[in-house]
Formats: sequence, structure tokens, C-alpha cells
Amino acid sequence: MKKEQYLGVSVSPLTYDQIITDMKTRIQRGEQSTVIAVNPEKVMTARRDPLVKDLINNSTYQIADGVGMIIAAKLKKGELKERVTGVDMMGRILQMAAAENLGVFFYGAKEATVKKAKENLEATIPGLRVVGYENGYVKDQNALLEKIQTSGAQIIFVALGSPRQELWIRENMPKLPEVKVLQGVGGSFDVYSGNVQRAPEFYRRAGLEWLYRLMKEPKRLKRQMALPKFLAAVITSRGDKK
Ligand code: UDP
Repeated sequence: MKKEQYLGVSVSPLTYDQIITDMKTRIQRGEQSTVIAVNPEKVMTARRDPLVKDLINNSTYQIADGVGMIIAAKLKKGELKERVTGVDMMGRILQMAAAENLGVFFYGAKEATVKKAKENLEATIPGLRVVGYENGYVKDQNALLEKIQTSGAQIIFVALGSPRQELWIRENMPKLPEVKVLQGVGGSFDVYSGNVQRAPEFYRRAGLEWLYRLMKEPKRLKRQMALPKFLAAVITSRGDKK
């Protein structure tokens, strides 16, 4: 599958539709797929931490969630054209699940959040079957795995924050052979539950979602400093893109 490299980290230059089409083929073949969101903050972490780099590069789809990745693609003349966000990718996978009658499991976030996200999504996506859910603070992992297995879910969304959710996916994927798609979704249950508002359309279209989030939550500045550092590193890494 086609990939682009930014500072040694793989990114899939695929659209939502291309990912869904490819994913359906893999499901038919009985193969498991993982989806991981890549943004400048994660790339900078991956540069320091080989485990994070390994987690990203060994995923099936590395989606470019973050305008910084699109700017990097422009600088490197890559094929990556548009953001593929974790929250929208999850929405597209849910629509596919409803159309193909595949059961879905939600794991992560606070109890009230994950429950509300499930209710809201079932009310808005006709035919969607959320066959089980669990909050992200349960301790008994064996009971959790059993719950997932008996639910009959074939798709699971994990919202524990990064890189915990990706580590969880890597560790538990072999124990859940019936689950064919695993996506780490960060704060997406918070968004679908209605607890957290996404940036208005204007900011998203202008590639300024980061600015909106910064205005809402000024303490994000430290995390967002990864963006200029990332771009500076990309500019000076002339030979890096493959
Ligand atoms: N979370 C969880 N268990 C934990 C820590 C975090 O379920 O032990 C949940 C948290 O409630 C939130 C989600 O993980 O709903 C994503 O957290 P955050 O927004 O910090 O992650 P990011 O997307 O920024 O990596």
C-alpha cells in the first residue's frame, strides 16, 4: 500500500473513500486492520521514542490528522492533499458498519461519555449496531476482553488517549481475532457525546482548527509548539521523503 514518509514516520496518502474501499476488501479476506491518527505532535514524539514510531509505522492506515501534515506534504511535494481526521474516519467506518451489518464496540472515556456517544450515534446512523461498550477506567482486562468477544463485535474504537490506546490495540489485537478493524480515536467519544464542541466549519476549512482549540484551551500551547518544530525539521530534512 502506498505510503509517504515524514521524518521517518509513515502516512497513508489515501482519502476516506479509498480507505473504506481497501478496508472492506481486507475484511472480506479476514485480515485485521488498524487505523492510527498521525499529527505533528505524534511525529515529534516518534522521533524520540522508537516504540511510538514502531506503533505508527506498523499500523495499516496512518491517517493525516492535522493541518501540519498537509503543509509538510506541500513542502515535500507529497501526494497527501487533505486531512483525514480521526473523528470523521470513525464516522465513515460507522456508516460502513451499518451498511455491512457489522457489530461495533466502544472502549474508553468516562462512563457517561461513552454511553451518550453510543446513544447519539445509534440515533443518527440508521442500522448501526453498537453491540457493547466499556468506559476507559475499568481495571479488569480479562473481563473486558471477554465482554468484547461475547459481544460479537467486528470493529472496535479505543479512546484512552495516545499512545495508551495504540499500545492497547497492539497488545490485544491477537487476542481478538474476530475483530477486524481497530481504531484509536482519542477524544472522539467526547465529540460524539456532545461534551466537546468541534471547531466551527470556518476554522476547519481554513486549516485553523488548532487556533480555535488554542483560544478555547490556552494550556494547549505547549502541545501545539510541536507544529513549528515539526515544520522546521521537515524543511531541513531535504532527503527524507520517500
Ligand atoms: N481516557 C480513558 N482512560 C484513561 C485516560 C483517558 O478513557 O485512563 C480517555 C479520556 O476520558 C478521553 C480520551 O481518553 O475521553 C482521550 O483523551 P485525550 O483527549 O487526552 O487524548 P488525545 O486524543 O489528546 O490523545
